[in-house]
Parts: sequence; C-alpha cells; structure tokens
Amino acid sequence: MERSGMPGGDAAAPKGQVAPEETLAAEGVNKAVPLAIRIIILRGAKTHHPFQADSYIPIQKPKENPMNKTLRTPVIAGNWKMNLLPSQTGAFVKELKAATAEADCSAPSGRDACGVVLCVPYVNLCAAIGAAAGSHLKIGAQNCHWAESGAFTGEVSAAMLKDLGVEYVIVGHSERRAYFGDTDQTVHGRTRAALDAGLKVILCVGEVKEERLQGVTLEVVRLQTKIALGGVTEAELRGVVIAYEPVWAIGTGLTATAAQANEVCLAIRDFLAEFYGRDAADAAVIQYGGSMNAGNAAELLAQPDVDGGLIGGASLKAADFAAIVKAAGRQGVSASTVK
Ligand code: PEP
Repeated sequence: MERSGMPGGDAAAPKGQVAPEETLAAEGVNKAVPLAIRIIILRGAKTHHPFQADSYIPIQKPKENPMNKTLRTPVIAGNWKMNLLPSQTGAFVKELKAATAEADCSAPSGRDACGVVLCVPYVNLCAAIGAAAGSHLKIGAQNCHWAESGAFTGEVSAAMLKDLGVEYVIVGHSERRAYFGDTDQTVHGRTRAALDAGLKVILCVGEVKEERLQGVTLEVVRLQTKIALGGVTEAELRGVVIAYEPVWAIGTGLTATAAQANEVCLAIRDFLAEFYGRDAADAAVIQYGGSMNAGNAAELLAQPDVDGGLIGGASLKAADFAAIVKAAGRQGVSASTVK
C-alpha cells in the first residue's frame, strides 16, 4: 500500500478505527448537526457516566516496543506561556545553556541524545535567539497564523518567525484551543503554514478530563491528529513533533501515570503507521506534556513510546528545566546503547 500521508479533507475513518461520526452518534449527538458543532457539543456536554471522577484508568493494555526508541531523538521543549520579560530572557538562556551543556546532548552513537527547545513569547524571541546563537539550544514560538500575510491585525505569520531565526513553533496548545478559539481546523491551517515556512511544528493533542472519563481519549487524539496533519506528507512529518498533552494534567499538578502517557503516545504512533507506514511512525517523535517536572521526568521519559516532553511551569526555572533535559539525555544515551 502506498504511504503518502494523511488525506486532506477526508472525513472517513481508516480501517479498524471507529469513525468520528460513530463516536459522536454513540454519545447521542444528532447527526444532522454539523461535525464541528457536534464536537463542541460533545466537549462541553454534561454527561452522567458510570466512571468515578478521579478514575483515570488506562483503556487498553500498552504494547511494548522498546527497540524502536533507539530510532528517535527525544525533544525536551519548554513552554514559557505568557511569563518572563524580554529583559529577563538573555540571562535565562545563558544560564540554561550552561546548565544543559553538562547534560551530554551528544550521545556516543554520534546522534544527539536529546534536543532542547525553548518556546518563548513573541516579544522575547529576539533576545532568546541572540543568547542561544551557536549552542545546542533551539528557540521556538508558541503560535503562528495560518495565512502567509494579510489583514490580520495583531497576528504573526510563520514566515515572520522563520525570518527572525525561529526554528520551532507550538500549534494547537490546549490554552489556545480553550481561550482563543483554536479548533482542529485552525490547528490544521497553522500546521500547514508552519511547515510551508520551513518551521518545525510541536503539535499538541489531548483529551479533556470528561473525554477521558467517557473513554474516548484515543478517538479524540486520533481525530485531532488526523485533522491537523491532513495533507501532510511523510517527508513533512519529519518536521513534526507530536505532544500528547492530557488537558486535565496541564498546569494542574496532576500528571498522567507513565502507563497512561505511554498508552496514548503508542496509540498515536500506531495511528501514524496507518497513514505513513511503520518506519515513519517508528521515527516520529511523540512527547508527553502535563505537569512534567524534575521529580517525575525520568519515569515518564523511560516509557518506550514517550520521546521527550513539553514542559510548562518547570521550564520557568533554568535549574528545573535542565534537570529534565538531563533525565532525557540519560534516557537517550541508554536507549542508543541497546543492541
Ligand atoms: C504546557 O504548557 O504545555 C504544559 C505541559 O504545562 P505544565 O508543564 O505546566 O503542565
């Protein structure tokens, strides 16, 4: 079967996968209502479900494929959100550079043991890029517009970021989806624009608490991933890091268990394999994000399908962020030595 990537604008479910239509119908959402509206209804729906509110139970047994981890370089990305001033950025980046230089980001195999990215507010980008120049540290933005240019007051295009020297951009973060009206469709547009401009994308997907309790986590992340990557080719997929971020774990101090994180990362990988083939899926970098910190990073990063992390709160202190980078570097080095 030829593997050319995700179909653009194709609503049909791949073989073996429950169609989004069926999932929604099972929730009693009227088929006559347009799909996007039905997703909003489902996401906001008050349901009476038999699960306990605090029972985040894994919904399928994880499969293990630890050998494939050797094919991938983990990426630890910090997301400052709307924190720290431009004038504080240079000193922070220099401290982070020094703190992570000892993290041995180059594995003995010659490939990097760990990629390190710092995603800062737009107005901090110049200072961050200047301070990180010539180092292992890559700088990212936290969003980009889907249009190349035009009458979009207050917005920033992917080409502008590229021109500035930005290498990565986060798209689809749950805070953009929750507070700024981002939808799966706009996330798709931003992903497309970023790849067209030559940026690497950190694509965030993840379920809200109610979706996990309803047992539709895997359907939700598959749908988000499928729409965001519509039309993205196998070659372009190499420029995409997928961040699985359960929304209930972001900024809450609640962390998914290592098994839960791995289960969903593995499901995303298997889903990618349906469209891009096994080799491309095994090479894809899939992070976990949600209250990862220096204390829990090692266990999460040791999971066979977790390739790094997207870190919010713990990226605001250079020492804490460096500790996570070091944990990932150690995982990368030990995985690269697996024969
Ligand atoms: C995030 O902002 O993507 C995130 C995971 O935040 P936190 O680590 O604070 O939960």
